[in-house]
Amino acid sequence: MSHITKVKVHNYSAGPCILPQEVFEQAAQAVLDFEGSGLSILEISHRSKPFEAVMAKAQSLVKELLGAPEHYQVVFLGGGASLGFHMVPLNYMKVGGKSAYANTGEWATRAIKESKLVGDTVVVASSEDKNFSYIPKGFDIPADADYFHFTSNNTIFGTQWKQFPKSPIPVVCDMSSDIFSRPVNVADFALIYGGAQKNMGPAGATVYLFDPERLGATGRKLSPMLDLKNHGAKESMYNTPPVFAVYVSMLTMEWMKRMGGVAAIEKRNAVRAKLLYDAIDRLPVFRGTTAVEDRSVMNATFVLTDAALEPTFDALWKEAGISGIRGHRSLGGYRASMYNALPIESVQVLVDLMEEFARKHG
Ligand SMILES: *Cc1c(COP(=O)(O)O)cnc(C)c1O
Repeated sequence: MSHITKVKVHNYSAGPCILPQEVFEQAAQAVLDFEGSGLSILEISHRSKPFEAVMAKAQSLVKELLGAPEHYQVVFLGGGASLGFHMVPLNYMKVGGKSAYANTGEWATRAIKESKLVGDTVVVASSEDKNFSYIPKGFDIPADADYFHFTSNNTIFGTQWKQFPKSPIPVVCDMSSDIFSRPVNVADFALIYGGAQKNMGPAGATVYLFDPERLGATGRKLSPMLDLKNHGAKESMYNTPPVFAVYVSMLTMEWMKRMGGVAAIEKRNAVRAKLLYDAIDRLPVFRGTTAVEDRSVMNATFVLTDAALEPTFDALWKEAGISGIRGHRSLGGYRASMYNALPIESVQVLVDLMEEFARKHG
């Protein structure tokens, strides 16, 4: 496959995200010829033995990397984490029951909206008062709600829960943008879900990791397509799964395993984040936009103290081959997303040019 080339770009995109170079190469090969079968991964049957093996491997890697209890199940569905926002209350809120949510950003807000469509929804904590620049602490979760939902990493605002709230009720977490970035105790969660495209693979698959024993007790009749228990029982093959996205996610998880697993990745991610946040704090031309103790290791948000210099700064990073560090369209400023596959060299390139910019304009 020597003819496959890719121009070197330092990709800070918030999602779909950078994946390891070797995964791009393996995926490209599989598009042409999947494991020597003479068939492309894009044309094999999802019921074929080779793909069943891919699915089984992808499911077991999710559990292995996160150290999930044996009986937990993994399914990969379409619809994005956004469909998950609606599936969560459908599958966990009893008919006539209620849910509890923490509102820490745009995605949490959307999840709350979807829960309200299904039933009684209480927001037990929120950081909306300060434009989601921090993580709320010291709040109570009502014991009579059916589940508590939170967003572990707030992709747009750049905050991250460092400690997970203690909950008297089952916990559901949207981990779209920091799954596999650090170890978690899966047994503390009834459900962890996330769009693959933030830290696990390409767009097109959403992963659900759940305790099947906590499902099926809502008293609600569900379409089989919206029923997590059904998808679990059918081993993620109730209907055609997102074959290519599952395959590339599997390759990426194999890479994570080769990297030493999630604990080793966490250490590496911490080094990258420190390098960048130290620069933001050291150089007076930049200012971080979130509470320091809640800073995301995945998405670092910052602004220029003099916004008039943005075009100058933009020209500098574009010239250095950096891509995707403009802030979310709703927020402006800058956001450097440092998903697992971003090499530390890319962070060094950014930090070096921030230094250069500060020297000229400080
Ligand atoms: C991107 C994102 C979503 C939405 O994911 P889709 O797959 O686009 O539906 C939800 N939650 C978080 C935390 C995200 O970062």
